[in-house]
Amino acid sequence: MTAPRNSAVGEQESADSTEASKPHKSVKGSKGARPESRLALVRRARRINRELAEVYPYAHPELDFENSFQLLVATVLSAQTTDLRVNQTTPALFAAYPTPEDMAAAEPEALEQLIRPTGFFRAKAKSLLGLSAALRDRFGGEVPGRLEDLVTLPGVGRKTANVVLGNAFGVPGLTVDTHFGRLVRRWKWTTQEDPEKVEAEIAALFPKSEWTMLSHRIIFHGRRVCHARKPACGACPIAPLCPAYGEGETDPDKAKKLLKYEMGGQPGQRLRPPSDYPGRPAAPLGAAG
Ligand code: SF4
Repeated sequence: MTAPRNSAVGEQESADSTEASKPHKSVKGSKGARPESRLALVRRARRINRELAEVYPYAHPELDFENSFQLLVATVLSAQTTDLRVNQTTPALFAAYPTPEDMAAAEPEALEQLIRPTGFFRAKAKSLLGLSAALRDRFGGEVPGRLEDLVTLPGVGRKTANVVLGNAFGVPGLTVDTHFGRLVRRWKWTTQEDPEKVEAEIAALFPKSEWTMLSHRIIFHGRRVCHARKPACGACPIAPLCPAYGEGETDPDKAKKLLKYEMGGQPGQRLRPPSDYPGRPAAPLGAAG
């Protein structure tokens, strides 16, 4: 079901052989440097992708799911909360309503109570009831594998549709969430703020076959190292390629303390992580620690 892991990483440019060991003072695109050519930007972007593939060979969707319906529901629930909180909530939800038909027939209050820990539970319950009914009535109880169909479902936008396509159907897609947008702007791959424009500009820098894994790698890096408020620049493996190096903590020891999940020796977000994930699984809802 999931997209191929560790897929070949873009094109290899032999001219681009900077060692990723020390912060590079003259990264093109950084303040005071000459404007970066399109070719140099493409090379640097692909180099960053290759470095991230080395750092996170196990990058994967951090929502637990067993089929496309579960992934769709989990992605809708993940708005304004963590994947961990969704993963702690969905086992009971999917046990109660395993199919779109079951969920479409749910009592709204019972559904709301089950998804309450994910926040905004009334609006999310409404979306889940609406999308389940639409799957039952318009798509024969199956999740459609086309973007244009997915975005007609209640509560499903382009980002959710791309998550489902990329990870349940193997259709390449970029997931422009808050981490993705922040990092690609820090890397000066784009200056756009609008997610659709960001998606279009980043899509033009990479072969289509890279889109899904690139998204996972960027989101992994945003969650673990390149945080919104305190990026761990001093412990960042792609610092030599980053025009925003220095925006966060540069002292290596202090930066190391900012690392999260498996990079910081903490549990991950999944209750059932893939077998090659080097970190620890998260605890179920209500468990200590
Ligand atoms: S942590 Fe710092 S050096 Fe690393 S990608 Fe983010 S801003 Fe750049």
